Amino acid sequence: MYIIACPTLEFYMNVSSIGLVYVTTLLGWNMIIIVKWKGSVSLAIKIFIDQGHNPTGYHNTGATGNGLLEQDITYQVGVYLANLLNNDPRFDARLSRPTPTTVLGTTNATSLAERVRMANEWPADYFISIHCNSNPNPSINGTEIYLYQFNTQAQWLAQRIMTGIVEMVGTKNNGIRLNPSLYVLRRTNMPSLLIELGYLTNSSDAQKLRDDQYQFAYGIYLGIMRYFGFA
Ligand SMILES: [Zn+2]
Repeated sequence: MYIIACPTLEFYMNVSSIGLVYVTTLLGWNMIIIVKWKGSVSLAIKIFIDQGHNPTGYHNTGATGNGLLEQDITYQVGVYLANLLNNDPRFDARLSRPTPTTVLGTTNATSLAERVRMANEWPADYFISIHCNSNPNPSINGTEIYLYQFNTQAQWLAQRIMTGIVEMVGTKNNGIRLNPSLYVLRRTNMPSLLIELGYLTNSSDAQKLRDDQYQFAYGIYLGIMRYFGFA
């Protein structure tokens, strides 16, 4: 009301939800010009990285094969990926397990629920869960990415990520697959995907999962960059 009552005015004021604004009259119109957007508002793309499973010795640990533990590999690939993304101001990445000793939930079910809750409450723009596969048949190998639904942003992102991983690491492309029963895909509110990097139970994949953890992360990063048209 005060603004409308004044024939001409010119002042700065701090509006808690916007930031610093400049109020002036120009050509008979009262105008509010946003001078400085509130610092807490970030336009970065928020990516939640879920390193599948919990540290060894707790519930919800992962698969094993060729002397490797899934939870250790997914932890480190996630850390590499978060660092790559957070070095770019266009991204803001968070990890479900920021430290090697982080334990999520108290049971398998609550461990998954906690990951989804963290992503939904942030709220993240994208959810990427990282896993390693296993199979009784040691000849089965390759990378798979699981989705809740085809013809979604999650599928376009998954295709770029698959290309990135195959290019950087040389695993076999087993394709983008549907698995709507996976809890973390079903219950997240944003485009979400679950990457099975490779098979711990296959000797060739196991070697890559042991020695090329940075390259796996870089392949995922490259896929994200291409999806957004940044690379
Ligand atoms: Zn897993």
